[in-house]
Amino acid sequence: MDLKSYSEATVGSLNLFNENKKVMPYGVSSNYRFFEPYPLYIKKGKGSRVWDVDGNEYVDYNLGFGVMEVGYGNERIVREVSKVIEEGTILGFEYYRTGELAREISRRYGAEMVRFSSTGTEATMHSIRIARAFTGRKKVVKFEGHYHGSHDQLLVNVNPPNPKGKTMSSLGIPEETVVNTIVVDWNDIDEVEKVMKEDVAAVIMEPVAMNMGLIPTKEDFLREVVKMSKEVGAVVIFDETKTGGKAYSGASGEFGIKPDLMILGKSITGGFPLSVIGGKREVMEVIGPGKTAHGGTYNANPVSVVSSLVTLKEILTEDAFYHMRRLNRMLVKGYEEIGEDVGIDVSISSWGTSGTVFFSDEVPENYKEFIATDVRRWFSYFFACLEEGVIPMGGFNEQWTLSVSHSEEDVKRHLEAAEAGLKKAKE
Ligand code: PLP
Repeated sequence: MDLKSYSEATVGSLNLFNENKKVMPYGVSSNYRFFEPYPLYIKKGKGSRVWDVDGNEYVDYNLGFGVMEVGYGNERIVREVSKVIEEGTILGFEYYRTGELAREISRRYGAEMVRFSSTGTEATMHSIRIARAFTGRKKVVKFEGHYHGSHDQLLVNVNPPNPKGKTMSSLGIPEETVVNTIVVDWNDIDEVEKVMKEDVAAVIMEPVAMNMGLIPTKEDFLREVVKMSKEVGAVVIFDETKTGGKAYSGASGEFGIKPDLMILGKSITGGFPLSVIGGKREVMEVIGPGKTAHGGTYNANPVSVVSSLVTLKEILTEDAFYHMRRLNRMLVKGYEEIGEDVGIDVSISSWGTSGTVFFSDEVPENYKEFIATDVRRWFSYFFACLEEGVIPMGGFNEQWTLSVSHSEEDVKRHLEAAEAGLKKAKE
């Protein structure tokens, strides 16, 4: 869609944007939902599709930024959650089924103990506090381009336009807040080795980077980082907010690497706010009244607990992953062929149920390579896909995700749209 046809097809979104921006900065509730010239306003979803306020139908591969692998309006979730809503959505004290969810997560992801929060942001924030309490140290190592939510301490070098040194990724964060945050390049083991000489409490990472497109992990690098962290007694935190639901047992299960702490969220919940801080017993045991603070009114609320139980036990099964990953491989193959036919420099990365198209001749290995890809071309491709009725990914720094509702027919639709998109991007 060039900008002219986007504005012709989405008049309702434009009108809402103009009204909403009077009362909401940029007319949205999350900066990540805004894009130029104005964002889409979505009315409803079902299965693999969403409809915007103008009635345009899209096969959706953004899936709520990777949440809705269960498919929109999943009947099993609707049925079970409706019952819970009638019985009270927040009951105070502890809901009787929370332990059942903790045991399921422990079985599936290998976490010895588990606590629940409501968002990925809260969970990563708590994980750092837990690591500091456990080690008695202050410093935290993070990787450039990795996103761990919107709390202050890790909102550094997430998406710098001109990466150089340590850069705050938001106004309003005092420098003092991040004096203990150390930033290093992803996939650069020498840099990691240098900073490990400092007194490090935690090393936090997305085990597969999914907020600078999808950058595959060099498994050697990951193992080496984990080994070095263990040698100096730093707590290894895998932020699996995204990756946890993109393979049956997340990245840690797929790579066979057990972190000290892991964070889960997004798609394991079936679409309701819930996140997990899980990990080794000795580390998790620092949490408690009078010890390390962890709280939240909405933590493990009945709706989110039941939705997560249904999601993990009945919907995102090994068979479901077989289906989603098979479709993902079809998409990757299709993109590679189309890229070749169209004669444009694109590189495709994938992992689990997700993948990304980069406008570069090679898949980037770190943020600096990612930000050097051709973002302008990405937007031409994106709008052309919208015109074909496909939301291919949620943003140039995001990835597509498959759901249990996506079909081979949907993949075909995606690839047809991608062809139009890549041709447009080449112009
Ligand atoms: N960690 C990772 C890896 C994420 O991708 C995100 C969100 O995209 C978060 C944390 C933050 O999660 P939330 O938006 O639920 O706070």
